[in-house]
Amino acid sequence: MKKLRYLIYARDEAGSAEGTSAEDQVSRCEAGVKARGGKVWQTIVDHAEPEMKGPPPGLGTIMELSETHGNDWDVLIVDTCHRLMGAEVNVVHLLARLNQGGKGLVALQEQVDCAGPAARHLSLFTAMVEHERQLTRSHTRERMLALARDGYWPVGKIPFGYKRRNSRDHILIPDPKEAPFVKEAFRRYASGEPVPRILEDFKHVRGLSDKNVWRLLRNPIYTGRLPYDGQVYPGRQEALIDDTTFNQVQELLPKTTDAPRPTRRHYDYLLQGLAICVCGRTLTAYGTRGPNGRHYPYYRCPARPHCDASLIRADKVDEAVLAQVKALRLTKADLNHLTREAKEECERRRKRLETPLREVEEAIRELRDQQAQVEDALVTGRVEKENVHHFNERLNELNQQIEQLVKRQRDMQMALDEAIGPLSEPEAVAATIAQAANELSKHADDPEVKRHYLRCQLTRVDRLSEHDWRLIYLTGMEETITV
Ligand SMILES: [Zn+2]
Repeated sequence: MKKLRYLIYARDEAGSAEGTSAEDQVSRCEAGVKARGGKVWQTIVDHAEPEMKGPPPGLGTIMELSETHGNDWDVLIVDTCHRLMGAEVNVVHLLARLNQGGKGLVALQEQVDCAGPAARHLSLFTAMVEHERQLTRSHTRERMLALARDGYWPVGKIPFGYKRRNSRDHILIPDPKEAPFVKEAFRRYASGEPVPRILEDFKHVRGLSDKNVWRLLRNPIYTGRLPYDGQVYPGRQEALIDDTTFNQVQELLPKTTDAPRPTRRHYDYLLQGLAICVCGRTLTAYGTRGPNGRHYPYYRCPARPHCDASLIRADKVDEAVLAQVKALRLTKADLNHLTREAKEECERRRKRLETPLREVEEAIRELRDQQAQVEDALVTGRVEKENVHHFNERLNELNQQIEQLVKRQRDMQMALDEAIGPLSEPEAVAATIAQAANELSKHADDPEVKRHYLRCQLTRVDRLSEHDWRLIYLTGMEETITV
């Protein structure tokens, strides 16, 4: 049995309780690694900074390491799952990434141990949560589209020259500082001036670069239209440029498009992260070109030449596994087993997230009580005149604290909904698989759909020998196929 290599992650927060400093977390993790017979590959620590916005940088590093050093480590270990969560960290996204990279997760306090074979739990939930996220995304898209159809600015960076009417508004109005530059740029370009010369005069304008000017000159938004998702709708914003000038400029603009082509892999490896070498390592994708220039996709062991397992054609394994899984009909007993597991995991997750949420709610209640008392004292005139100022300040302070906590509560509630949402229905598992199968029947050639379908059902695919593979399903069932 190979020694698993652990990546330790610790994070300390301002004002955290005794025994929970990053150093404490690290030493508990080190002990945990030792107890599991593994070894520490690297330790990453995030230190709390009060002004820090966005996700802690260390988590981003972990995401990167799961790609760039994917073969150098096996398991992420944390003292508690809370270290992976923060208002702006999407823990399921992180899990999905770990899972895709064939990584395990250990959280000591919650007794989550998804290292080695137990990583199978990670796989199903990641697939389900992915699906849930797709739904959310498509709902968001629909909402944005509806806004755009009605001529509102749906989302994203406001084009140069406009600003929002109010800070959360979907209506754009001309920005008095920027709009004149837009008009001038169109006018001068239409009269034959080259972009570099226009830019020379606009050097001092914030937010305008060479590229921006080219983009600006192509943007129909300035004619009062609203481009969104490849379509152009009538917008509600005031036009800065008339159609004639705009069309004239379009005629003059170079026809080449500088849009970057999406980088494309020659082949989408369906089993990446699922396929395991005879030696126990996760197989990696490896493309090679034949003398005829054709591209051949392979899976190979990252430990070559130390491990002497041969390269194997990825397309052949992928198709064979997909065909096998498609032929499988889940029985009622299988589904019951799956739903039971989903429910249990859901309960565990709810417990982990609910305690801190209840604490915040309790704190809010307490502050509101205090707030009521202070208000009461002020209203009933029990406060001496010289103290009124002091009481008012205290009231302000309380209001601010409550506001902050309510915001935090909302974030936590959202995290809770997101984490357990897709799992709270007992039929969710069956529905996820059915949905994936349905999508596959509609988009049989879409590799993303295929990957999702396989991940809804398989825990891993083990290479047993040169041609034999064992499929391990989430139901616990196993099948052996020859490729
Ligand atoms: Zn190997």
